[in-house]
Amino acid sequence: MKLLAIDDNQDNLLTLSALLKAFLPEAQLITSQSAQDGIRRAGMEAPDTILLDIQMPGMDGFEATRRLKASPATQHIPVILVTAHRSDSACRVMGLECGADAFLSKPFDEAELVAQIKAMVRIKRSEDALRQERDSLDALVQRRTAQLSEANRELQEHLERLVENEARYSRAVRGTSDGLWDWDLVSNDYYYSPRWKELLGFADDELVNRPETFFSRLHPNDQPEVQDALCAHFLGQTPFDLELRLRTREEEYLTVRCRGQAEWDEAGEPVRMSGAITDMTERQLMEEQLRQAQKMEAVGQLAGGVAHDFNNVLTVIAGYANILKMDLTPESVHYGLAEQISAAAERAAQLTRGLLAFSRKQAISPQRCDLGEIVRHVEQFLGRIIGEDIQVKTEILPEPLPVQVDLAQIEQVLVNLAANARDAMPGGGVFTIATGLREGSSYAHGAAAGKHAVIIVADSGEGMDEATSRRIFEPFFTTKEVGKGTGLGMAIVYGIVQQHKGSISVSSTPGQGTVFTIELPLVEGGAALQPVLGQQSVPQTGSETILVAEDDPNVRSLVDMVLSRHGYQVILAEDGEEVVHRFQAEQHGIELVLMDIIMPRKNGIEAYAEIKKIQPGAKVLFTSGYTADFIQSRGMKEGVELIMKPVQPMELLRKVREVLER
Ligand code: ADP
Ligand code: MG
Repeated sequence: MKLLAIDDNQDNLLTLSALLKAFLPEAQLITSQSAQDGIRRAGMEAPDTILLDIQMPGMDGFEATRRLKASPATQHIPVILVTAHRSDSACRVMGLECGADAFLSKPFDEAELVAQIKAMVRIKRSEDALRQERDSLDALVQRRTAQLSEANRELQEHLERLVENEARYSRAVRGTSDGLWDWDLVSNDYYYSPRWKELLGFADDELVNRPETFFSRLHPNDQPEVQDALCAHFLGQTPFDLELRLRTREEEYLTVRCRGQAEWDEAGEPVRMSGAITDMTERQLMEEQLRQAQKMEAVGQLAGGVAHDFNNVLTVIAGYANILKMDLTPESVHYGLAEQISAAAERAAQLTRGLLAFSRKQAISPQRCDLGEIVRHVEQFLGRIIGEDIQVKTEILPEPLPVQVDLAQIEQVLVNLAANARDAMPGGGVFTIATGLREGSSYAHGAAAGKHAVIIVADSGEGMDEATSRRIFEPFFTTKEVGKGTGLGMAIVYGIVQQHKGSISVSSTPGQGTVFTIELPLVEGGAALQPVLGQQSVPQTGSETILVAEDDPNVRSLVDMVLSRHGYQVILAEDGEEVVHRFQAEQHGIELVLMDIIMPRKNGIEAYAEIKKIQPGAKVLFTSGYTADFIQSRGMKEGVELIMKPVQPMELLRKVREVLER
């Protein structure tokens, strides 16, 4: 033990030292002869007990006690005040108030001194131990608190991540619109997500979360397959992924793709399985549409091909019939017969045009015509499409409405609209076509500003609801039974109107008929309008030399005959190579080359390029039964002169003159 004695009297300190050596040898004594020095040493040496004299010059023992007890470094050291008289009670009271722990009086009684010191040291030691305990407890608490709040923070973060994950997860699930299921194989608890039930047409609380909800709704024919797949999956052999049918609220079967994944315990026993069902209706519908589209594509190609070959035949029939008519006088019986032939050929040409439009390979050959005249022309054969119990009305604006259109295509639009109107009026009704003029366009986008010619097509049929009218322009959208509707009519109409930079809109009320409004840009300026119907002008003749290249012998001789009869010198070639040779040989005599585009050995485009090399100014006029996209894909530039097959003799003569006179 370490003791500090503070006393100004050197003799007292020596006496004390001697006493302690004799009676408390384990004590180590430090001495100090002034209060200030004593306080300093107490802070430095940290003694177990301080013996402090009261009467000292400068600072007395009371003040020194007060200071020792006020400083954190020394406040826990017991202080024994040494008084001069044993019975000085005022002095003891004062000492206690200053914080002294015990008293001794001089001269010292050895036994009391030792006992007092020992007691003080004991008290100090146990107090120290207590304090240490308390301090370490405090530290522990602090450490624990810090750890706890760290754990808390982590937990909070974890929670936030969980909440975020949960939200993300449910968004994703909602996005897939899959229905989820979860099966506890041990307790046989089953869970179906609300979406799972919704897919079958049920609200969340309408189906119980029991295994039989699934198994009893499973199509009987799918049961064995599902059982097998489950067993195989539980044995860890195969993924669980199959299409199956579930019975819906309406007692229909919904085809779903059902996928799942089991979990196994350590013993390899499956304990849980979860998965999802995906509605396959949309997919099946799309597959169905794809099949339909592929079928249409194939049919379209077939139709386009037939129409092309058929055009050549028609050219011959109509051509010879026209030649016959030219040779006859209108009064003769044969003239009438020839006229019947050309009328029939015209109808057939109409058909091939329809086929080409259907195969979407109709050539675009826009010409400037009066819309009113087109409508009048269509009106003539509309009766055949629309049937007798439907009344056809036309209201045509008296002044001409010049539009730049492909006649055949605009006719196609009207024919398709008429066919739909007929289907919408099985019990008869009124079908109206009206034309009009509109300043600007009713559409902010799409159609350009400026004047527009308007065609209004209305029927008094069954009409349609809004959901239907929103979809009618979609290819393959039809409300008609299989075999009756193709769903292409309105899609073609839409495509054609778009191609003409126009717009189309529909307005309909169930039971009250339908009105379609088509706007086409009006062409302004005074250029002459081309007549819609074949013109009856006098045949134009000429004497120029024309090189004709055509691989079809019938068409070749027809063209030869038509041109020769009207004064032209004709040189014939059978294919692309021959036409180039002939041109090379006789180039200066040839004023016009009339050639088919599709020919063996060398096609018209290639022959054209070579002829242009021989004579850059050569005039060339093409004939073709093929279509605009086909021709363009073969490298034909716009602005090249083209006559569509079937070639009509009048049209041919007119076009030939037109090109020659340029
Ligand atoms: P389709 O006539 O082969 O069904 P369309 O493309 O011509 O195909 O027409 C698509 C659908 O638009 C029709 O099935 C019909 O439901 C609806 N529709 C078109 N025109 C009319 C109309 N004038 N009146 C009522 N419904 C119509
Ligand atoms: Mg239709």
